[in-house]
Amino acid sequence: MKLQTQVKKVWCPGCGNYAILTAFTAAIEELGIEPEKLVVISGIGCHGRITDYLNVNTFHTIHGRVIPLATGIKLANPELTVVGFSGDGDAYAIGLGHLPHAARRNIDITVIIHNNQVFGLTTGQYTPTSPKGFKSRSTPYGSLEEPLNPLLLALASGATFVARGFAGDITHLKMLIKEAIKHRGFALIDVLQPCVTYYNTYQYYRERVYKLQNHNPTDLRQAIEKALEWGDKIPIGILYKIEKETLDQHVKTPPVYKPVSNINIKKLYKWLK
Ligand code: SF4
Ligand code: MG
Repeated sequence: MKLQTQVKKVWCPGCGNYAILTAFTAAIEELGIEPEKLVVISGIGCHGRITDYLNVNTFHTIHGRVIPLATGIKLANPELTVVGFSGDGDAYAIGLGHLPHAARRNIDITVIIHNNQVFGLTTGQYTPTSPKGFKSRSTPYGSLEEPLNPLLLALASGATFVARGFAGDITHLKMLIKEAIKHRGFALIDVLQPCVTYYNTYQYYRERVYKLQNHNPTDLRQAIEKALEWGDKIPIGILYKIEKETLDQHVKTPPVYKPVSNINIKKLYKWLK
């Protein structure tokens, strides 16, 4: 079964979203996860189209609500692999209230952020991760605000897996996605995803991004140090990864399911008629 649908992709040519889609489907294939055991949620923004392109159980939800939806799905059926895709505008602006709580609860879901530092779908306004001085349609004289550091926030909130990827390195991103999904607990991958139309950062990142080496991902202080590193050098890789009890492990009462086979089809048909 092909993991990608035949739906025509409408992302701009060269958009970093293609790399995330490619890395994700390759990761799922390599992990051998059956499509019916996988649920993917997306929010509002250019990234949100990803659910149209994936041939698995998907839910394109309202603005900023990817994490609560993913939490509910995981609690309802802990057997499922639950992955949420969200943008920097979706997850770090309107939906920001959900991230620290999912992290501290350590619910076993994976959240992948398409962080292009701009609102792409609404044609280029600044977001919480836009750099200070960023000139956009909503900040024509340059943003006066300091950007949010999502990795630092996730670490401070108690996330047990925190990583950064780059859409310009699909193989590395695939590895991160595989590790995040395998991790039992809340996993956040912030992906540097250039928006070629409103904020093309490919060259900027290519000159600065480097892969973490000799880094101890179980050391919170080292992880915080790496989360703070942003400038001439930008680290990508797994900043932090520890084992801890998950929220879904504590939910004692499994929900009651009515298997489809128990439904009396004849009765149902009569009723429908
Ligand atoms: Fe990608 Fe930007 Fe085009 Fe949206 S506007 S599809 S983020 S390049
Ligand atoms: Mg964005």
